Order: sequence, then structure tokens, then C-alpha cells
Amino acid sequence: MSSFRHAENKSLWVVRELGLPAVVRTCVSCGHVRHHATGKIRVNANGKQLDVWLLIGCERCDRTSKIPVHERVHVSSLDHDRLVRFEDNDAAIVRELVHTQRKLDWTGTWDLDTDLPFYDVQHDTAPLDVLVRFELPAPVRVEKLLTKGLGLSRPAVKRLVDEGRIRLPTALDARVRADFSFQSSGPNSHAPGPSGSSEK
Ligand SMILES: [Zn+2]
Repeated sequence: MSSFRHAENKSLWVVRELGLPAVVRTCVSCGHVRHHATGKIRVNANGKQLDVWLLIGCERCDRTSKIPVHERVHVSSLDHDRLVRFEDNDAAIVRELVHTQRKLDWTGTWDLDTDLPFYDVQHDTAPLDVLVRFELPAPVRVEKLLTKGLGLSRPAVKRLVDEGRIRLPTALDARVRADFSFQSSGPNSHAPGPSGSSEK
């Protein structure tokens, strides 16, 4: 990417966090698979041994289930600050525990904020650098970000990528979940062309 011409126009897109993903797990009462974090963590002490669970609730019947975080660990093996945060149901810790579950449904957890309402990527000739910043590690298809962010159809986005006018660090159908940047250039940017002809 570093070989690509430096663009004067820069844009920041933010994959904004709307909420926590659902934990996918079959409810023993009703068989539903989506659970939400209740915001609570339970810590049980048995002598010097601790059990720590993340509590989740079935989205259909509200039954609470426990997900083990630590089982029968010696109290001295846990970082004290972390233990206090477990006991306080610290929201950042709840978020971290949810995010590290193996099966998650990220539907509805994010939205895309862009700051380029007037840039027409199909017709503007000025190169543009876009930094996509993630507030949450939701796996999002690059194609979906581009169609949403540029307000274009999937075929239109694919054409721009195929023509080399949008340069991506990954395949268009790849899923990303961390910051990346891409470059967009006008139709004449690869040809020498008359200088100073680019329009705003
Ligand atoms: Zn249920």
C-alpha cells in the first residue's frame, strides 16, 4: 500500500459499537440459541478456591445460564484488581468476557459512521484514503462496509475494485474485524493525463 500515491483527501469511517453480540448456546429450557449478557458476573468462594461465571439470559424465556470463566482456581492466582472488577460486575470486563466466547452472533451490534457525504467515488477523480476504525471486533465483510460507506450497489463496488480504482488490503469478500485502510482513485489516476484536471 505504501507505494500508492499519497492522497490529500482522507476520510475516517468508524464501525460504531451499538451493543454486545448474542452468545450462541442452546437454552436447556426452550431450545432457543440466542442469549444476552445479563451484565452480571458471579464469584463463589469455597475456602481459598474461587469459581467465576459470566451470567447470560435466554432471549426467549429469560432463563439464566452460567458460563465458566474460572473454575476452582486458587484466590492467589487471580489478579486482585481483576477479581474486584468481577465482583463489581464491571461493564468492561463483561464486554471482554462476552467478546471472547467462541460462538457469537454479531447481528445488529454495529453501524457505520462515515464523514464523506459529498465524495462521489464513481466520478470524483481526486484520490481518497479511507481509514476504517473498529470500535468492536465484529467480523464484517469488506464488501458490506464499502456498499454501506459509499452508498453503492455490490456490482458497482465490485467493478471499482476490479478496475483497480479501489485498492483493498484484503479480498472484497473477506471479513475483517480490526482497523484497516483502503485507497480510492479517480478513473484517470493511472494515466498521466492533463495535470490539474481533477475536479472536486
Ligand atoms: Zn430459553
